[in-house]
Amino acid sequence: MTDLTKLSAAALADKLAAREVSSVEATQAHLDRIAAVDGDIHAFLHVSDTALEVAADIDRRRAAGERLGPVAGVPLAIKDVLVTTDMPSTSGSKILEGYMSPYDATVVARSRAAGLVPLGKTNMDEFAMGSSTEHSAYGPTRNPWDLDRIPGGSGGGSAAAVAAFEAPLALGSDTGGSIRQPAHVTGTVGLKPTYGGVSRYGAIALASSLDQVGPVTRTVLDAGLLHDVIGGHDPHDATSLTDAWPSFADAAREGAHGDVLRGLKVGVIKELPDQGFQPGVSASFRGALAAMEAQGAEIVEISAPHFEYGVAAYYLILPAEASSNLAKFDSVRFGLRVDVPGGTVEDVMAATRDRGFGDEVKRRIILGTYALSAGYYDAYYGSAQKVRTLIQRDFDEAFARVDVIATPSAPTTAFRLGEKIDDPMQMYLNDVTTIPANLAGVPGISIPSGLAAEDGLPVGIQFLAPAREDARLYRVGAALEAVLLDSWGAPLLDRAPILGGGR
Ligand code: GLN
Repeated sequence: MTDLTKLSAAALADKLAAREVSSVEATQAHLDRIAAVDGDIHAFLHVSDTALEVAADIDRRRAAGERLGPVAGVPLAIKDVLVTTDMPSTSGSKILEGYMSPYDATVVARSRAAGLVPLGKTNMDEFAMGSSTEHSAYGPTRNPWDLDRIPGGSGGGSAAAVAAFEAPLALGSDTGGSIRQPAHVTGTVGLKPTYGGVSRYGAIALASSLDQVGPVTRTVLDAGLLHDVIGGHDPHDATSLTDAWPSFADAAREGAHGDVLRGLKVGVIKELPDQGFQPGVSASFRGALAAMEAQGAEIVEISAPHFEYGVAAYYLILPAEASSNLAKFDSVRFGLRVDVPGGTVEDVMAATRDRGFGDEVKRRIILGTYALSAGYYDAYYGSAQKVRTLIQRDFDEAFARVDVIATPSAPTTAFRLGEKIDDPMQMYLNDVTTIPANLAGVPGISIPSGLAAEDGLPVGIQFLAPAREDARLYRVGAALEAVLLDSWGAPLLDRAPILGGGR
């Protein structure tokens, strides 16, 4: 019998629709897989105890002849930044330990309505601050390619769950790269939608002008299927776009079968220096570009002179917004309260925030409060906003000349646990190529481009498109995915040691 955990979500959905397998069987297979490997991986903070009931309900409805959506019955992992009524939502923080939300995030409600089966909540850096998942208050997640290495962050749990075949689909959130960088280091696919394309309602806010929820999967088509479920206008989110979006799954199918690479103009940023990039990452990137060229794509050098200032601007804008968003964890409204006998309200608040927040969260709150304070506001926050505008203009000019921009998704392959935890600057620099898309609000996808020669670890290529052109990323991503898969002969993940394969 086929191992149901090895199937793509699309293939599993086909089997479910044909009633070759039941959702209960598919869900049980994934729960078994979680039981077998998650002790090592720690992708999940919480595993649902109602998944099998939800699956049985889908099976009953299907048997009764109800018309179900295209992915009904497929299991789904949910990043713990998204609030859920039936499971705790902690955002990786002690301050929200055991917190039960009175409502579901819109993306969760839409997933349930589509018949997806929530398997559990995935681990993450506390409040989505980090690139390694080591800042989780509940211990790190490990990379299925090498248990001594990080799975990326902040959404390392979602990426590792998908890479380790614990779930075919996962939800992530991306403020500066937390969907795309974990995809890069785990050999999976992740897409950050156009800002406003997916509802943020019920996504515990990190930096509201940068946050987007998106799909984490093993194939581009699977990402499109999940994006179709969660995307579109939501009146609960004031920044939600009212656009009518095309089907992203259809776009991915078109890309896989069509000839979309012929004549495609792919921009490569000339200011992005080779130094700082691991040789195997650069080589894999160039290999992917060559593969696209062989299919008729045109590689065009473009200038984006402010791209490299993205990290600096981001680390002023993000802490500023985060310090404001996290003010609500005040010992009264949500989660933890540390009592201080005889103390004032301020004493209780301070003790709670001291105990409830980890070091990285405190660092960013202090940074953000400082950047917003009178006297420094113009020098720091104001300047960062100007840089943000310059980056947006760079993109506008570039997209007048090219269809997509390509970069490596991150400068290095998965680093070792503990390697960068004491050096915040090194950790921050990991997002040099992903952050500009958040600052500009444009969509970005990371797909596997191969393995780095020096360490055998996965590498991702990132494509960026103009705002609202997410479908273009699905077409191009699926096209390159098909070409690379042909040359590899088997999915990259088949070589991951988690499956018993040697690297
Ligand atoms: N690694 C980045 C940070 O630490 C991105 C986080 C994210 O996208 N949530 O802020």
